[in-house]
Amino acid sequence: MSMDGHTTTAEVSEESQNRLDLSMPIQYVKGVGPARAETFSKLGVETVGDLLEYYPRDWNFVPEPTKIAQMQPGEDTAVIGLVESTDYQDYRRQSIFEAIISDDTGACRIIWFHGRYLRNQLEPGQIIMASGKVTLYKHQLQLTNPKFVVLDEEHPRSAEYFSGGVYPACKGLSSRQIKKIIGRVREAADKLVPEFYGKSFLKKTNLISRKDAFQWIHLPPDEEKLAQAKRRLKYDELFLMQLGLALRRYKVQHFSAARPCICTDEIDSRIRKRFPFLLTEDQNDCIAEIAADMSRHTPMNRLLQGDVGSGKTVVALYAALLAVANRTQVAIMAPTEILASQHSLSIERYLRNSKVKRVLVMGGLTGKKRTELLKQIKSGEVDIVVGTVALLQADIEFKKLGLVIIDEQHKFGVEQRAQLRKQTTPHCLVMTATPIPRTLAMTAFGDLDVSVIKHSPPGRGTVITRWVDRQDRLKAHEFIRERLKAKKQAYFVYPRITAVVLGTPYGEQDNDVRAATDEWKYLSTEVFPEFTVELLHGQMPSVRKQQVMSEFRKGKIDVLVSTIVVEVGVDVPNATIMVIEGADRFGLAQLHQLRGRIGRGEAKSYCFLFAETDSEIAQSRLEIMIRSNDGFEIAEHDLRLRGPGEMFSTRQHGLPDLKIANIVDDFDLLVMARKNAFELVSQDPMLTKTEHRNIRQALLAKFGDALGLADVA
Ligand code: ADP
Ligand code: MG
Repeated sequence: MSMDGHTTTAEVSEESQNRLDLSMPIQYVKGVGPARAETFSKLGVETVGDLLEYYPRDWNFVPEPTKIAQMQPGEDTAVIGLVESTDYQDYRRQSIFEAIISDDTGACRIIWFHGRYLRNQLEPGQIIMASGKVTLYKHQLQLTNPKFVVLDEEHPRSAEYFSGGVYPACKGLSSRQIKKIIGRVREAADKLVPEFYGKSFLKKTNLISRKDAFQWIHLPPDEEKLAQAKRRLKYDELFLMQLGLALRRYKVQHFSAARPCICTDEIDSRIRKRFPFLLTEDQNDCIAEIAADMSRHTPMNRLLQGDVGSGKTVVALYAALLAVANRTQVAIMAPTEILASQHSLSIERYLRNSKVKRVLVMGGLTGKKRTELLKQIKSGEVDIVVGTVALLQADIEFKKLGLVIIDEQHKFGVEQRAQLRKQTTPHCLVMTATPIPRTLAMTAFGDLDVSVIKHSPPGRGTVITRWVDRQDRLKAHEFIRERLKAKKQAYFVYPRITAVVLGTPYGEQDNDVRAATDEWKYLSTEVFPEFTVELLHGQMPSVRKQQVMSEFRKGKIDVLVSTIVVEVGVDVPNATIMVIEGADRFGLAQLHQLRGRIGRGEAKSYCFLFAETDSEIAQSRLEIMIRSNDGFEIAEHDLRLRGPGEMFSTRQHGLPDLKIANIVDDFDLLVMARKNAFELVSQDPMLTKTEHRNIRQALLAKFGDALGLADVA
């Protein structure tokens, strides 16, 4: 071991090279010592397996060397030759380094502009390989500014030095160094990398072997083989992910029992009497799916999707009442207190004079009151508990929790769901108003069954969306004034609370962005002095927030100035106007959510997007908003504009990060992987068959205990 920690002695490395296995820390790979291993770990590379999966970000293709006599002008060529002579000329603005090389077929000139640095690198007698474009100069073939390498023991004659992967580098590790180290592992890869599938499967699906894939992804002989390598490795990655999801699902369904909730005709009609309208076809379909799930001994694990205002709450309440009718308790959880109290309010609306006992648990609740409430929940006196994530806290105990309803799941993530399961194994219904593109439904939510409400209940007014620039603001204000006079209400939404950027050392101003607090003063005194204008934002005391919301709901407030706290769950049909200031700063999903707050009554609604932006992405976002009202369409666009990486991190959902596959671009592979993974689990749920051993091992290496696979295995 040398001072800098790199293993240098050939003995040690050869021995360890023979012992390489995928889970071995890379420290023992030749050329990597503790210091480099630490640098590598910053790149997320810990083991030999990680090293093999540290994929290039780009590839170079250098042809096999040709003889000098075969060089053709205009072609990319590599030649190997003996350096006959060198020459260096230093002009005032230009320096040129020149070399003549020869092989047994002829000689050729190589020149490098700005070649001063080459004076101590190249000398007659060396053998070099040079690669670049062949040009014709004064009727002679020459190479200009080619890449080159001096061939010696360390760099034997091969195109490998130039070809192959270009790796994402970092401080202390260049792409070339990474390539060299990966090269050593790659050479051993054929022995290290086990095949997952049988020959007939590979043939049928047109996938190459896993061994070849790892060779070719790092050192592809040509573009075609690179494409094949990518396809195979992407497939494997998606397959393992889907297998993890399939197993997670299998485990929930087969290793835990839930209390079946039976829906009789009597229960059904009693629940339906609670709603002052007929349920839509979509709502009925969803309810049928949910009721079927809940009638089983295995816990329901279902995602209920539907645009804002599509009527999910009603469906969820049906499920809740079904659970209560079966003498179990229900927990309804929302991401924010505002949304929780909104749920509680809608429930109250439907459950007036009902014997079902329901409570709202909020963070502000303390002391004796809280203790009393918890006691009632524990004794089973309370049927429905509404609250925020705080409900997950350990000190809330249920007597018989039969159903958990989680709203806006994308803000929770898988882990919270898992946490809930620790207590009991209730049925679980997850609601989301962010329409989830198919790709995400199959990955981030891939272990759930999905019910969708596509069409909103009848009697919704249309929403007209306009993009307003600076000159037209006053016109928009006048238009809004007319609506307010007609007793309609308006939301003004801002990207931030104050213009002072919190968290910067000197409280810097960000003057580009209008802020709710300042604009509230301006709107209430200068623009709409004759109306009641109130402020609502997340940092206000909870009590005050509730008060403002309740007054807005009652129509006592005409204009509500707020931050995105109104994004979720506020239901005021008389509010028909929404102004979104700095609309270019919001994501598409967010804009769509915000806009969903209006158009809830029968009257026509108007959404004004105030924005000045040069950004193309922001502009296309705003254009989509104007064109479309369909949440799914918007979500697909969003995913495409931003890319899946930004929209959701797999890790956040308890899935390993994708290193090579992309759920949007590789959708076809994803579909195929999902189908095969779920089939495999249904045939061999424990993956105990010999032919599945390699897959199981790879899965455990990838997910570890995150999926609780160890006890499945
Ligand atoms: P979501 O939870 O999907 O945002 P809600 O369940 O809150 O939607 O419903 C939005 C509004 O539509 C509520 O005012 C609700 O009373 C009403 N609503 C729901 N279902 C129907 C229906 N089938 N017919 C008429 N109105 C409905
Ligand atoms: Mg709702």
